[in-house]
Amino acid sequence: MANKKVIAVFGATGAQGGSVARALLDAKHFTVRALTRDVTKPSALALKDLGAEVKKCDLDDEVSLVTALKGVYGAFLVTNFWEYLDQEREVRQGKLVADLSKRLGLKHVVFSGLEHVHKLSGGKLTAPHFDGKGEVEEYFRSIAVPMTSVRMPFYFENFHGGLKPAKASDGDYYTLVLPTGDVPLPGISIADIGVIVSNIFNSPEEFIGHDLNLGAEALTVKQYAEILSKGLGKDIRDSKITPEAFEKLSIPQAKGVADAFRFTLKNPERDFELTKRLNPKVRSFQQFVSESIEAFKNI
Ligand code: NAP
Repeated sequence: MANKKVIAVFGATGAQGGSVARALLDAKHFTVRALTRDVTKPSALALKDLGAEVKKCDLDDEVSLVTALKGVYGAFLVTNFWEYLDQEREVRQGKLVADLSKRLGLKHVVFSGLEHVHKLSGGKLTAPHFDGKGEVEEYFRSIAVPMTSVRMPFYFENFHGGLKPAKASDGDYYTLVLPTGDVPLPGISIADIGVIVSNIFNSPEEFIGHDLNLGAEALTVKQYAEILSKGLGKDIRDSKITPEAFEKLSIPQAKGVADAFRFTLKNPERDFELTKRLNPKVRSFQQFVSESIEAFKNI
């Protein structure tokens, strides 16, 4: 244990970082330093029980970042746009970790990045929750930190919460409010990304310098609805909402989310083969639904 290399995991109490920390702990190749702003919360204590070193760290606090990153071999970085709804702040956090990774000589950072939608669309689309991550990806490259960007697609878990099937007002059925029409939307269960990231850390020579577009499979909204209907025994349909109607919904960042969907529909390419190679047990949506029936109880 003492001479294993250390990997610092940001967001370890959350969905992405939690999956990564658990997979690294399972694989036992690295010591896991789980980072959180609150080392007393149950999700932090659970990681400690599994063998992680749990350390207090705030992405807005340079001193805590230096302490967290000193002596580590690598880091998994996820920044949470939705915590502050502030692109500038997310970029500042990401760039600070990049600068410290350079200064402290980290050998491999796996960053949960995304495409810079605004730049790639020639300024036509703006998706703050993507664009900031795109800017941070570029920054890591510009200062030559050995980095792999893992670009996560739509989480299947979104159907448990924010995008859960919505009860129709005019009948005994539910709808999926997803403005993706007939274009297949790539997705993954976030629980499956930990093994992927763990395997990326095991093969730095293959993955440093690459942007990996991950995905388990891509389905149309009609297919997502059909699988949910079958799995949950409820009538679930495509709401047929357009991106134009979606961006008028009273949800946070509706325009940015609609633009991210517009971008994804034009650029749906995902490396399903690589995803499967990095995690041979990656779940299909059908498997995901049948294994998480309990989490749909609140619809
Ligand atoms: P999550 O489950 O909500 O967890 C957020 C994590 O961020 C927590 O562990 C929290 O740790 C940590 N955190 C937040 N602010 C922090 C700070 N100032 N310093 C240190 N840690 C901080 O989030 P997630 O789903 O893992 O990741 C969210 C990101 O995924 C977002 O940026 C989103 O854009 C991206 N994403 C989402 C999807 C999707 O379909 N939903 C797809 C692709 C990408 P503590 O509270 O313990 O400190």
